[in-house]
Order: sequence, then C-alpha cells, then structure tokens
Amino acid sequence: MIEVAQARRKILDCARRLKPRRVALPDAAGLVLAENVKADRDLPPFDRARMDGYAVRAADVTGAWSELDVVSDAPAGSSAAVLLHRGQCARISTGAPLPAGADSVVMVERSEAVGGRRVRLAGPVTSRQHVAPRGEEARRGRVLAPRGTLLTPARTGLLAMVGHTKPLVQPAPSVAVLATGNELVGLEDQPARQQIRDSNSVLVEAMLGRLGVREVRPLGIARDRRGHLARCLRRGLESDLLLTSGGVSVGDCDLVPQALAELGCRIVIHKVAMRPGKPFLFAEGPAGQLVFGLPGNPVAVLVTLLEFAGPAVRKLMGRSPEVRERRARLRAPCSKEPGRMAFLPARTVCRPGGPETEPIAWHGSADLVAASQANSLIVLPRSVRRKAAGRMVAVHLLEDGLGLADE
Ligand code: AMP
Ligand code: MG
Repeated sequence: MIEVAQARRKILDCARRLKPRRVALPDAAGLVLAENVKADRDLPPFDRARMDGYAVRAADVTGAWSELDVVSDAPAGSSAAVLLHRGQCARISTGAPLPAGADSVVMVERSEAVGGRRVRLAGPVTSRQHVAPRGEEARRGRVLAPRGTLLTPARTGLLAMVGHTKPLVQPAPSVAVLATGNELVGLEDQPARQQIRDSNSVLVEAMLGRLGVREVRPLGIARDRRGHLARCLRRGLESDLLLTSGGVSVGDCDLVPQALAELGCRIVIHKVAMRPGKPFLFAEGPAGQLVFGLPGNPVAVLVTLLEFAGPAVRKLMGRSPEVRERRARLRAPCSKEPGRMAFLPARTVCRPGGPETEPIAWHGSADLVAASQANSLIVLPRSVRRKAAGRMVAVHLLEDGLGLADE
C-alpha cells in the first residue's frame, strides 16, 4: 500500500495549472496573479496633504504665530489651480493636492480664524511638513504585485488603486461533487430508520469554498447501480475536478473504481496506508480531469480532503500545495495501531512556550460528532504505536486562526 507522502506526490504530479484568465477585479480576490502589476502613475500622484488645515509656504510661517491671507479652498478632489504668493495660504483637506507655491501644511488645530479671509497659524513650520511627496510610496512603473502574488483584500485594493481592473489570474478549477450510496437521502428528506443523510457533499463543498473554489457543481446522490453511477460520473467528468464520496472500498456496492475505469479514467492510486482514509482513490480522467474517490466515512472525507484534494486544488490555483504542518507538544498521551499513518482529531492551541495539542476521544472514521470538535489532526507516522504526554508531534491544521498561518 502506498504511503501518504508518496500518494500526495503522485497527485500533485498530475495537477497541472489551468490557463490563466482575465477576471473582473472583485472576482480576483483570493486568486493568484499570473502577471506583474505595476504602478500606472506615481503614488501619491501629486504632493498630497496629510492633514486638514492650511497649505502654506514654510518661509511665511517662521515665528510663533503668523497671520496670512486665505486665498482659496482646496478640498480633496479639487484641481488646485491657485498659485500661492508670499503671505498667502489656502484651506486644504487631507488627500488634496498642494496648490502651486505651497510646500507645507499647518494642521487646523494649530490655526485661529481672524475674520473671514485671514488666519493666524502657529509656527514655526518646517518645509514639507504634513506633506506626502509625489511618488513617496512608489514611482510609476514599479512592480507592486509580482506574478505569483496571492490577491489578499489589501492587494486587491492595491490593484484598484493603480487601475488594474481586469487582472490575469490563475483560475480556480471547476469542481463537481457526487455522493454515492443506496442508504443516502438528500438534506431536505427525512431519513427512514435505515437511511442516513448525505452529509459528505456539504462538507466537501464547504472545504472547496474555503479553498477559494467558486464553481461547484453538486451532482447529488448516485445509487450503487452501475448504470446510474456511470451516468453521474460522466457528468462529473465535465468539470476540471470530480470529488466523489463512498463506494471505493471492497464491498459489493463499491462500484466507483470499476465505473471510473470503464469511463476511460486511469486509476493512479487506490488505497493508502493511512487511518482514516485507507480506501482513498485517485484517478486521472481522459481529458486530464482529476478524480478524487474519497471514502464514505465523514472523518475519512475530512482527512483525505485535507491531505490530498486540498493540496491539488491549491497547486492548480498557483498556491503552495504544502499541507500546513506544525510541531506541537502533546498534552495527553495518544496511541494507534502500527502499519498505517494515523490522523487523530485534536485541539491545538497557541501557548507562550509554543503550540500544544490534545487528541479528542473519538469512535473512528464515522464519528463526525467528535471530529467536528477538532481544529487540527495529530499525525503519527506508520511505525509509531504510542506517544507520551510532553512529546512533540506533527499537527496538520484544519482551521485558520491558530496564529500559525504561513501564507
Ligand atoms: P462506503 O465506503 O460507501 O461503504 O461508505 C462508508 C460509510 O460511509 C458507510 O457507513 C456510509 O453510510 C457512509 N457514507 C457514505 N457516503 C456518505 C455520505 N455522503 N454522507 C454520510 N455518510 C456517508
Ligand atoms: Mg457506499
């Protein structure tokens, strides 16, 4: 049976990026740039007031108090056509361009009106005081966001600032999601005693949303019958990625591997030395589609999404495919059977001395009740049987917000 790391390598080898695409700026947030974005002009584009107050010639405000003529008003957005002569100043607001002749700003808190058109200003004023000089943030033509940059909210705003409204980005793949099983009912239906709700599909869709996938096609439930399953899978192969759950183990109802092969898919991986997640399947479709046959049990779905599908999606999107691994100190002992790498639901917290982690008591791969309490997985290598409290272990993070993010 193939090891987890080797399985991930094989999957990532098959994950080839889609062609970069231009998208509207609001849709680009969360995607990776596929081009360099430059400043289209100096930033700021003009000498800019940092304060509300009066634009002055510093040479006019040398003493403790100086009285000047207010010759114009320069709110933000005004074109500042005025030219300041000696003894003159202009009202100015934050963000407005300095009128010609002015070189400094006196903030309004350091002024006293003297009648309508004169003002007393506290000095002395140094040259360039409260002025953001043109180009201080960036000169026109400088690359502000290189190809490969993840468009965080701040960088999306930056692109707007330089008028780059249709950036070339690495698009997210389109993904189809299919549940399989005769025992499943849809979320709107009331299950009979022997039936269960299809919880995997929403779990998968939620994970895809978090990965930044926008185009998700829910295909519902395929029954464990060859004809119906084949029809559903064929529709799934219309997307770049197909994620199925269930039907990949060794029971009579586990028809997914054969159905995929009959549709021309190449089975790359079937069964991985891990727990949960052993029945996991990965195949490549005839047109290079990536097919993830996740096991049926919900915790196995969670683990194989985190370990395999997530990294592949991130690679397709131009992001780092690394699984976010941290070392944490065990607060309680944990144990497992040898022979397979184990992923144990855990709570990991940040402490002054470093991350600490604690396994959550659980009843195996169907136990989403326990696993839903986890924010991470303790990863124990194949040969390990036991780890005592106080030892360091690897943890893979299910949730952000542990103060451990690396992107
Ligand atoms: P299977 O590998 O198809 O035998 O599925 C393994 C276990 O996972 C069975 O107990 C299934 O009932 C359960 N299971 C399969 N698919 C789903 C699903 N979509 N939602 C919740 N549980 C599922
Ligand atoms: Mg099944």
